Amino acid sequence: MKGFDTTQKRTFEETAELWFQNKLNHKYTSQNYRKIFPYLIMERGNHCAKCGTIPTEIHHVDGDRKNNGLSNFMILCAECHHGFHRKKRA
Ligand SMILES: [Zn+2]
Ligand SMILES: [Zn+2]
Repeated sequence: MKGFDTTQKRTFEETAELWFQNKLNHKYTSQNYRKIFPYLIMERGNHCAKCGTIPTEIHHVDGDRKNNGLSNFMILCAECHHGFHRKKRA
């Protein structure tokens, strides 16, 4: 079984740096997503930002999927993520 080794960690950090520098064009592709998601977990902890369970999804804080700055990402479990997109009832 392999965990996060330093090689992977460097890869995630490099991905994040490229992301910051906009060299990935901030494209929210599944390929970029898979790279950036583990980085967010490393940076923020392996817990949903809302309820603390294990996160599986990335939410765009401002709702704009073209706004892919790291600050616009929130890591959530599926349940909380659905909660963000569910229409509020008075
Ligand atoms: Zn949650
Ligand atoms: Zn979302």
